[in-house]
Amino acid sequence: PPGERVAKVIARAGLGSRREAEAWIEAGRVAVNGQTIDSAARNVTGEDAVTVDGRPLPARERTRLWLYHKPRGYVTTTHDPEGRETVFEILPPAMPRVVTIGRLDINTEGLLLLTNDGGLARVLELPETGWLRRYRVRAFGRTTQDKLDALKDGVTIDGFAYGGIEATIERQQSDNVWLMIGLREGKNREVKRVAEHLGLAVNRLIRVSFGPFQLGDLGEGAVEEVRTRVLQDQL
Ligand code: URA
Repeated sequence: PPGERVAKVIARAGLGSRREAEAWIEAGRVAVNGQTIDSAARNVTGEDAVTVDGRPLPARERTRLWLYHKPRGYVTTTHDPEGRETVFEILPPAMPRVVTIGRLDINTEGLLLLTNDGGLARVLELPETGWLRRYRVRAFGRTTQDKLDALKDGVTIDGFAYGGIEATIERQQSDNVWLMIGLREGKNREVKRVAEHLGLAVNRLIRVSFGPFQLGDLGEGAVEEVRTRVLQDQL
């Protein structure tokens, strides 16, 4: 039969897991076009009206994605146990409810992706997605391109393995250096740990790209929605 299993449709609408939806069907809480159903094998299409406990499924909002220029000094979690300010408190008031795709440390600046689609966020923030994340880094200390090139083969620091790091020197001035560092995994504090390993103390960390998305000249604290057509091409 055409369509999809009712339980799948209910789960996608965000009401609960597929298992839970199947249990609700068993319990007689689910109806299709006004008739209570008793089998999870039932398929429905977009034409069918599904209700749980008599209430229609919430309409699924289309996936939206925003580029955000995170300023330094804010955490990217929704709630901070230490009471530090979060980026959610300073987003433009017209923003709908969003989640961040991955995290940036409190003193990291630059590109943070926001989305209204929690499922999308969970997929894109996985290291396995393998999207290149590029950072401009200013650090105290000196290094050489040879040392940076050695990072490509991977490095293990305190038992954590970091792989495939691309790093180049942009500028070296007395005892400060500006680097461009590209990571594909984005592990916790990866840039700072790798820099420390080279004897560099990071004092500015700016993410300039995440996969196909660039910070560009987006102003600090500003958001910019990715147009749907671009989104469809990239995801
Ligand atoms: N690496 C870090 O050390 N911090 C970040 O916020 C991101 C990457």
